[in-house]
Amino acid sequence: MSIRTLLIANRGEIAVRVIRACRELGLRAVAVYSEADAGALHSRLADAAVLIGPPPPAESYLRSDRLIEAARAAGADAVHPGYGFLAENADFAEAVRVAGLIFVGPPARAIREMGSKTRARVLMQRAGVPVVPGYHAAASADFAEAAGSIGYPVLVKAAGGGGGRGMRVVRTAADLLAALAAAAQEAASAFGDATVFLEKYIERARHVEFQVFGDAHGNVVHLFERECSIQRRHQKIIEEAPSPLLAAHPDLRTRMAEAAVAAARAVGYQNAGTIEFIVDPDTLEFYFLEMNTRLQVEHPVTEMLTGLDLVHLQLRVASGEPLPFSQADVTVRGHALECRVYAEDPANEFYPSIGPLLKVAAPAGPGLRVDCGYETGDAVSQHYDALLAKVIAAGADRLEAMARMQAALARCAVLGVATNLAFLRAVLAHPNFQSGAATTQFISTYLAGWQPPSGPPPIAALIAAAVAEYRGQAGASAQPETAANGTGAARDSDRFSPWQQADGFRIGGR
Ligand code: ADP
Ligand code: ADP
Ligand code: MG
Repeated sequence: MSIRTLLIANRGEIAVRVIRACRELGLRAVAVYSEADAGALHSRLADAAVLIGPPPPAESYLRSDRLIEAARAAGADAVHPGYGFLAENADFAEAVRVAGLIFVGPPARAIREMGSKTRARVLMQRAGVPVVPGYHAAASADFAEAAGSIGYPVLVKAAGGGGGRGMRVVRTAADLLAALAAAAQEAASAFGDATVFLEKYIERARHVEFQVFGDAHGNVVHLFERECSIQRRHQKIIEEAPSPLLAAHPDLRTRMAEAAVAAARAVGYQNAGTIEFIVDPDTLEFYFLEMNTRLQVEHPVTEMLTGLDLVHLQLRVASGEPLPFSQADVTVRGHALECRVYAEDPANEFYPSIGPLLKVAAPAGPGLRVDCGYETGDAVSQHYDALLAKVIAAGADRLEAMARMQAALARCAVLGVATNLAFLRAVLAHPNFQSGAATTQFISTYLAGWQPPSGPPPIAALIAAAVAEYRGQAGASAQPETAANGTGAARDSDRFSPWQQADGFRIGGR
């Protein structure tokens, strides 16, 4: 491989995941960090770490110039953008290449063409890929008339949108103008582009996306689908593969896979990308939504299913190697699920929860993978995405994968910040999710008023915990009570006994 030193222009779990790939491939990994991330896990794990600026992303992780300077200074020959931040910024990809470095991602032109959702829609229509009926104004066109002919409800979307932001569902003509204005304003501040457009709002949609991969030798393959219908505010929280919907309709899978490959080919795509579709489960019509021209948050689902390492492939393809397999070689086995564990408080409208992490413990076991950006002692900052970790569970079939996931979530421990772990478990326990029929409306339909179990733990649980702790301590010094040393060992463990503590604590007391 021509890459020897890789700069990772990101933070958190994705930076950690890319550093792991560097280790496996024998590459030197260079991390970057902001002042808020001094000593963060990704900076500790890398071979070198470069400070790139103050905490706000605009002054650090979004500073193209500083990232390229850091790459040069550290002797890197390639840059991996991760996801978010500059991952889908065509100017950054170009600047990296102009600096004589390899950009681990698609050509800047492909990023640019797919970066605007309206432009992408035009391109896709030309390539014969179905798009949602919609409307984009050339200039000061009449949205009201367009919405009328599309038919309500319609969805106002931001051309430069991402992360589920800048979207408004409009059900009646009277609400259209206000929604257009609000979406345009949100889009301008979030994406620096106030352009909005209309799409028919598909009420009972399923989100099904295809992982695609291209190389510099004209090969484009798909690595099958992921279903991401479990969303909160248009943002995925649980993803899985195979899609329960496509499992029941293999012919639909074939047609969607063909459309995904055609979409990627239409922009001369290279490296990892995702073609997102929505499917109407009643008519089985599918429509192109957008292309994400980067590694996706949920890529581990595909890795578990196909046995491929997508980051290894990204690095190989970026260094000019052809894809080491053809479409016919790609097979899937079993079922995989991913849950996104966020530092957020479901009891308080999912508001981000920040602060030091007193304890982080991830379960391990057969069919389990946890991609985590933090360890005990690290801190969650207000400046960045609240994603703490991704728990990925695989099994021979969907039932086994779900059972493993439930058990894994129950064994995740995060102390210090609030998390959505209990919420994720509520989703997994719901019959509608378990049936495989859930649409993107699942959470608003079934879990809108969900509240975490509250109140102090029951007294019996406290007593059981105290006794278990005492037994554990006593067992740790495991000396048989013989006449010779028994009393000594017993006295030793007594020091840890909750019954011997003189700290004023009384079960059931103050
Ligand atoms: P995925 O489709 O991979 O699940 P998401 O839409 O959840 O991706 O976004 C992944 C990350 O990238 C999130 O942190 C999100 O906030 C961020 N992100 C996505 N699109 C943009 C964008 N256009 N500008 C800034 N950040 C974005
Ligand atoms: P983003 O760039 O924010 O990821 P997408 O266009 O991918 O935006 O849409 C995000 C989510 O919003 C989809 O997964 C889907 O749940 C919902 N959505 C988007 N467009 C439509 C539509 N036309 N009808 C129904 N739901 C939609
Ligand atoms: Mg999307």
